[in-house]
Amino acid sequence: MSDDQISVSDPAEASHEPLALLMAHLRSGPAGLSQQEAEHRLVIFGPNELRRRGRRRLARELGRQFVHPLALLLWLAAGLAYLTGTPVLAGAIIAVIALNAVLAFVQEQQAERAVQALRSYVPPHATALRDGRVRQVPAAALVPGDVIVIEEGDRISADARLLDGQIEVDMSALTGESTPVSRQAGPVEPHAPLLEARDVVFSGTTCTAGAARALVFATGPHTELGRIAALSEHLAAEPSPLEKQVRRAAWLIAAVAVGAGAAFLPLGTLAGLPVADAFIFAIGLLVANVPEGLLPTITLALAVGVRALARRGAVVKRLSSVETLGSTTTICTDKTGTLTENLMRVSQAWTPGGRDNELSSLVEVMVACNTAELAETAAGAADVGDPTEIALLRYARDAGADIDPDRRERRRRMLYRFDPRLARMSTLDQPSESSRQLILHVKGAPESVLPLCTTLMDGVPRPATSADLERVRAAESSMTAQGLRVLAFARREIDASAVAGNAAPAREEVERDLCLVGLVGLHDPPRPEVPAAVAACHTAGITVHVITGDHRRTAAEIATKVGLHVRRALTGEEVAAMSEQRLEELLASGGELVFARSSPETKLRVVDALRRQGRIVAVTGDGVNDAPALRRADIGVAMGRTGTDVAREAAAMVLTDDNFATIVAAVEEGRRVFDNVRKFVLYIFAHTVPEVVPFLLFALSGGAIPLPLTVLQILAIDLGTETLPALALGRERAEPGIMRRPPRDRREGIINSRLLWRAWGLLGVVSTILTLAAYFAVLVAAGWRPGLPTGPGSALHEAYLQATTATFAGIVACQIGTAFAARTEHSSLRSLGIFSNPLLLAGIAFEIGFAACLIYVPALQSIFGTRPLPAWVLLLLAPLPVIVWGVDELDRWRRRRSLPGRRRSLPGT
Ligand code: ATP
Repeated sequence: MSDDQISVSDPAEASHEPLALLMAHLRSGPAGLSQQEAEHRLVIFGPNELRRRGRRRLARELGRQFVHPLALLLWLAAGLAYLTGTPVLAGAIIAVIALNAVLAFVQEQQAERAVQALRSYVPPHATALRDGRVRQVPAAALVPGDVIVIEEGDRISADARLLDGQIEVDMSALTGESTPVSRQAGPVEPHAPLLEARDVVFSGTTCTAGAARALVFATGPHTELGRIAALSEHLAAEPSPLEKQVRRAAWLIAAVAVGAGAAFLPLGTLAGLPVADAFIFAIGLLVANVPEGLLPTITLALAVGVRALARRGAVVKRLSSVETLGSTTTICTDKTGTLTENLMRVSQAWTPGGRDNELSSLVEVMVACNTAELAETAAGAADVGDPTEIALLRYARDAGADIDPDRRERRRRMLYRFDPRLARMSTLDQPSESSRQLILHVKGAPESVLPLCTTLMDGVPRPATSADLERVRAAESSMTAQGLRVLAFARREIDASAVAGNAAPAREEVERDLCLVGLVGLHDPPRPEVPAAVAACHTAGITVHVITGDHRRTAAEIATKVGLHVRRALTGEEVAAMSEQRLEELLASGGELVFARSSPETKLRVVDALRRQGRIVAVTGDGVNDAPALRRADIGVAMGRTGTDVAREAAAMVLTDDNFATIVAAVEEGRRVFDNVRKFVLYIFAHTVPEVVPFLLFALSGGAIPLPLTVLQILAIDLGTETLPALALGRERAEPGIMRRPPRDRREGIINSRLLWRAWGLLGVVSTILTLAAYFAVLVAAGWRPGLPTGPGSALHEAYLQATTATFAGIVACQIGTAFAARTEHSSLRSLGIFSNPLLLAGIAFEIGFAACLIYVPALQSIFGTRPLPAWVLLLLAPLPVIVWGVDELDRWRRRRSLPGRRRSLPGT
């Protein structure tokens, strides 16, 4: 086929021209494309993806860093500095703005990239016909001409015309309207607006019900979604609560800085400083204390957290989810595939009379009422389909049955899909071409199937008595008690004439008067890592409830096996009959609960009740109907492997391995990120005291004590020596015992009284005393007494410059100690390992090198007003880091001792 014959159709035309014509146009047919042809077209049309944004936007984002409110404050300071005749300071401040802007920009880009990269962890898939067979393909590999299969829960990944079937579509991504609309194959209405065309579906929308096949006519940038570029999936747009909190704090500090600067003006002048000098110092104080670097550093810390989470199998969509995860108090998890492996195996088969022919009838239902394919019969390499059905097929194969999917398909007249609400599925099959009998094959939960049975297969079908039903229940009980998932199998013969004609018989019409064939117990082992994860939840004060579609006994047995303290197991019906108040009481009364046979409504009610109690709830879900609960929860968790696309879109987090243990790992990661943000906030706050007190000392002494620190030196500390260690603290590993603390109260801010006490009361004060001691030591050794002149030209001037250098070097030394202290909030540094954060060590090396340049490079000396320090001063400064760190270490030790074994809220009794 020559390439130029397939053209990307004009969407208006592609949606209106008769289907046959469109098919001819796209050189495709009802059976879709061959794999080879699809690959060929992929080269021509390009991948089915939306393009990334261009350079212009990057430039705008960089520009934005120069004009955000804190930067504007600094511009103002620079302007004032220039007007008061200190161009060097003005230049320095502008350098500060530029440096900050670039740093913030780089950090935000990195954060954005981390979030972008998440897509590759959960690549969207589509189901397409290739070589005449149904295949899972990456959504990016769809091409015009492909025939796709759309089912309930799927995200539609290209613009397409329906060939057959009827579906409900949520078009909110395109129209903002979230009520699903119906789409159906059929004749074209020539004048309908594109988005309202009855038989057209669009990329970016989701199918909420039904099933259909559709012919792709536009992919990637040619789709409607591609056209509405502004609607391209942009993640992580809104600031997280953490960022908002820090932004508020940053403003508060900025206000304090402006206030302190303004207050210094009269104080400085009163102390005898010329007005111009007082002005410079006021500006210096302001610049030093505006925490302009804080926000981007936090964004980056969150982004690094996001990346770490993705590597552990938890893909979050918003940066803010990371911190919410850290405060999770309750996890509502489903069972199959999350607590268990979802590797089913038939472990028991039961038939009413235990005869061989009964077993073969049972196997026959297993094969017919099945949509899975085993690897040996599937075109691809792996088994495809629902694990339950795969297990049944394997069993049937081992029993010697014919499991060929093509023959099965040929016999099938009707498929009534598995409906989680009904908990059963059926197929209507015609055993042979000539046969006048159709057979309905049914399988499902015993509660669902047994009430429909009037007879049972006891060698031959015979009416079921109440004694029979007792026996069936006993068999079921013995299986559920072992944690087996139980399915009941039934059949019914129907005369072909009864269902003749085109109209498909309604489900209720055929699913009645069944003959029970047998029961099967499936074993699905708990995941080996789950018991440890459950135990970790318990020590971390997190309650775990199980909400599952499975049987009460089965679910309770599995829950107990993985270590949950199951206080009660209820069914969905019981919950439905409960008042809100009763449900809340039940949830509040402690212990862990199993909600079995529950519907998505049960899940939603449980989530809502928990949230009303102020719990931070993570809830898992995989079906279309789980979407409301996933949205309503604090953290909606969808399954990357087995879940539907709809659930994945509604969730805040997607597990690439569907594993419960990953949720727990994510909680730990969330706690770590929050801790780390606190660490560098502590570090950045701590230097304020030794920077501000020298100014106060000077002002309050009426100038008798010469100013111990210059403005440019402050800038050098804040923007030169501090930045890298602060960043490195954001990468700190989790503190030991991080999962032995109860969850953080959501209302507890990042900046709490303990942080302020440590930053200002402890580390700040100790650092101030030490640095001032160094300052005075140098001055006094040179013969200074209070009141003696130290200005340019005076005998003591050189000594004064050396003394301010000592203050500068002292603060740097103390900040090294602070950095080590900030690494842990509760534990000892030893438990963490002194050298376990190589980034921090590198940051400190940089800090020392940078400070040394300022002190010893002559060109820099003249700018920063520094002088080389004699050896004895260096010796004096050397122990400072250890002292600062040591004081904090003692304080933490004291705290650990006074709070032995902090109260842990262990769920259950
Ligand atoms: P969880 O919500 O923990 O994932 P689950 O997977 O067991 O639990 P559902 O998939 O809703 O929940 O299944 C509910 C019940 O429906 C099962 O216990 C089983 O009896 C029945 N069932 C499950 N899969 C099928 C199927 N493919 N065909 C027929 N019946 C099924």
